[in-house]
Amino acid sequence: MPRRVSPLPLHQQVSRLYFRVVLPAVTVALVLDGGTGAAVLIALMLLAALGAALHLLLPPAGQNALRFVFALAAIVFVIAVAVLAGQPGFTGTIDQLAVALLLTPATLMAWTLVFADQPRTGQILNLALVLAVTALMLRWQALGLSGMNHHLPLLVLLVGVTVTYYASTFALMNARFHEGEHDRTHDPLTGLLNRRAFQDRARAHATLHVAVLDIDFFKRVNDAHGHLAGDRVLRAVADVIQDTLNGQGEAYRWGGEEFVLLLPAPVNAPAVIEQVRREIAARHFSGGQRVTLSAGLTRTAPGEPVQRAFERADAALRAAKDAGRNRVVLSSPPTPLDKRAAGR
Ligand code: GH3
Ligand code: MG
Ligand code: MG
Repeated sequence: MPRRVSPLPLHQQVSRLYFRVVLPAVTVALVLDGGTGAAVLIALMLLAALGAALHLLLPPAGQNALRFVFALAAIVFVIAVAVLAGQPGFTGTIDQLAVALLLTPATLMAWTLVFADQPRTGQILNLALVLAVTALMLRWQALGLSGMNHHLPLLVLLVGVTVTYYASTFALMNARFHEGEHDRTHDPLTGLLNRRAFQDRARAHATLHVAVLDIDFFKRVNDAHGHLAGDRVLRAVADVIQDTLNGQGEAYRWGGEEFVLLLPAPVNAPAVIEQVRREIAARHFSGGQRVTLSAGLTRTAPGEPVQRAFERADAALRAAKDAGRNRVVLSSPPTPLDKRAAGR
């Protein structure tokens, strides 16, 4: 299992699109528009260009922070334009009105997606933008901007709030979907991947080490200390497994006190599993309990489904139990010669 190439999360994908395509496009459109004679449009162009440039230059953590800073800067920009309205370069023209009316709903939609991982934040920023643009419209109206219908501020407010409402509902649905997806594939007690996730994975023909681990005499822990103590031990064992794997593979809670580990071919799986066994055997759990575990380990033959290797690892686990527990038993994958002999 070479490291899974996960596509960027949605908010990062759309952030890229927003900062690297949309903002440069806005910049170019404003330059081509020729309306840049007005200070306000030059300032808007510079803001868009600066946002685009910073996104290119910053590392991922900085890009994440840039979304907030840029959204706040855009809101402050609109408020500043409202305050400065009437000053030279900020008189408010039909050109500027058109830019505001076009960019506002597009920006609301874009920010909803850019903040898809934080729907509440996106909603607050969107509402702040709607209020700022409404204030700007009221200012322009008070200054008698020609061509401005007197219902326009109210219309902008209504449309802005409606778009924000629908967009944030969409963002919340998306967030719930992701939570549901996480719950579907993870075990609530230990936080490890669950059996359903394993079954999805087991159909694959990947080149992997497959280990099945089972806590020895776990029933005695429950019988002697109660099921809550048993649960704490299960969580602690899962933590030891995760810490020892250290991102080198995947850990599943297959059921009860049984775990399955999948490690990519280049990892020294016998050493990793032996280290898990040793760590568990040496540990005093929170109620002072001590447990050991047994494991069966194999790897997939070329082209062999993971499920088949799992059965071999499970048989090796039973051999480890029969041989006295607290040990790791290795089982080699069948060679082409074995297969031919079996077929004969
Ligand atoms: P062996 O060494 O042969 O594996 O012995 P064992 O006692 O570990 O095996 P057995 O299958 O007899 O018992 C497994 C126990 O695991 C029985 C069950 O109560 C307990 N168990 C399964 N799931 C959970 C759980 O989520 N929480 C707790 N506390 N116990 C669990
Ligand atoms: Mg068991
Ligand atoms: Mg057991």
